Amino acid sequence: MLFFPQIRYKIGFEAAHFKLMHNLISIMEEVIFVQVPPPYLCITYACYMSNYPSISFENTEFAFEYKSNKELKSARFLFSSMGKAWLVKMGTRITPKLIRWGFPIKGIIRRTIFAQFVGGETLEQTSEVAKKLGEYNVQIILDYAVEGGESTDEEYDKAIQEFLRVIRYSATQPNIPFVSIKVTGIADSDLLEKIDTLMKQSSGTLMKRYLASLEQLTPAEKDAWHRVRHRLMLMCQEAQAHGVGVQVDAEQSWYLDPVDALTMLMMDSFNKEKAVVYNTLQMYRHDRMAFLKDCYDAAVERKFILALKLVRGAYMERERRRAIEKGYPSPINPDKETTDRDFDDAMAFCIDHIDNCAMIVASHNEKSNLLAAQLLQQKGLPLKHPHVHWSQLYGMSDNITFNLAHAGCSVSKYLPFGPIRDVIPYLMRRAQENTSVKGQTGRELGLIKKELARRKGKV
Ligand SMILES: Cc1cc2nc3c(=O)[nH]c(=O)nc-3n(C[C@H](O)[C@H](O)[C@H](O)COP(=O)(O)OP(=O)(O)OC[C@H]3O[C@@H](n4cnc5c(N)ncnc54)[C@H](O)[C@@H]3O)c2cc1C
Repeated sequence: MLFFPQIRYKIGFEAAHFKLMHNLISIMEEVIFVQVPPPYLCITYACYMSNYPSISFENTEFAFEYKSNKELKSARFLFSSMGKAWLVKMGTRITPKLIRWGFPIKGIIRRTIFAQFVGGETLEQTSEVAKKLGEYNVQIILDYAVEGGESTDEEYDKAIQEFLRVIRYSATQPNIPFVSIKVTGIADSDLLEKIDTLMKQSSGTLMKRYLASLEQLTPAEKDAWHRVRHRLMLMCQEAQAHGVGVQVDAEQSWYLDPVDALTMLMMDSFNKEKAVVYNTLQMYRHDRMAFLKDCYDAAVERKFILALKLVRGAYMERERRRAIEKGYPSPINPDKETTDRDFDDAMAFCIDHIDNCAMIVASHNEKSNLLAAQLLQQKGLPLKHPHVHWSQLYGMSDNITFNLAHAGCSVSKYLPFGPIRDVIPYLMRRAQENTSVKGQTGRELGLIKKELARRKGKV
């Protein structure tokens, strides 16, 4: 059996080398996973919140200790503004256009929404945030925020060099255990969409559908896809060598089937001893619980650790809109309660199979974050288990992050960085999320106001 880590190569490979790699990877893909998974096992998890762990998210002193009064007041202004739906609607529509047209608005963005949610424009600028959070036992998931997938091969290769630099840098820092990547930052989105469509038209397991779809690509597309695999492999290899984890983010569902397949292949190569590569499961999708169980069966069969970042999902409106426009059933759960149930069931599944399953609870939902801790405690497992990690986005839910850290959990902030132009899509999602998610802005504002009042000595 051939495994990716045993293959040595350089970037800028020659044609012969390229062809050899292509063949080796294709052989490997054919021997992996082309099997029918065991029948779907249906388990219902009843989780009763009777014995909450002694973790509370109410302590605003811990939550905002790292912020000065001035920073807190800026955050208060920003969250108040984001609470105005009309402002966010207008801002998210015109900001990307104004940036593209070269309007001088970068300064105001840098001082407001960028300062709240982003670590800096360069890798070096993130060090200040990382150092500050490290003082409170909060770790970092470093995210070089390129996404979008409409670049050239040279730009993708340049991006991968930056990712490799991020990994090497993270390895030198005491509190950066993970980096994250969006595959649309290293792959053409039309190609991703084409493979995804072909996969959705095929039947069988994820890998069967993946291989069948690759067969239908043109030679040029096959070569382009090979280069994508090669880029991701380089990244995983570098991460393993440096003891850093790689998280593959989940994006729109019409790109994701090939990303899922590729990430499973990477796990098969790099997660034999330790969880290095993590896939992301969006639990707002109604098929994700079954997918989780299929992935787990494949991991047991292939003897690797299934590593997952669990999220609810950030593209709900777009997913539903596209499904209506194109006339296919929406991939999203019918309501929030179903998403909440699936998210909590997925956490419970991972904890029940913790020896072979590593999970990152990536959420701002207080109940889910507490439930993860409680499930560990019910099983007599330590809060700082090597297969369990919590994470929240930088600039949001500090009450959860810092109180989890205070309770001894392994917890991080997801910290994007990059030039303003590149982080705009991320910032627009944050603005929308803080308007559309029921109660989130109010909750953030309430906590900030409570802390400002406490500092003034009013409470
Ligand atoms: C560290 C970290 C990493 C992340 N990485 C990713 C990523 O790779 N990909 C990604 O897509 N997102 C990612 N997210 C964002 C995440 O998916 C959510 O958008 C965000 O965290 C809000 O969900 P929540 O669990 O915090 O809590 P909540 O506020 O409890 O839940 C809000 C979420 O519930 C779901 N929801 C709301 N209403 C409905 C409804 N009517 N029907 C069905 N579902 C509904 C939506 O997913 C919505 O975002 C990440 C979040 C974090 C904290």
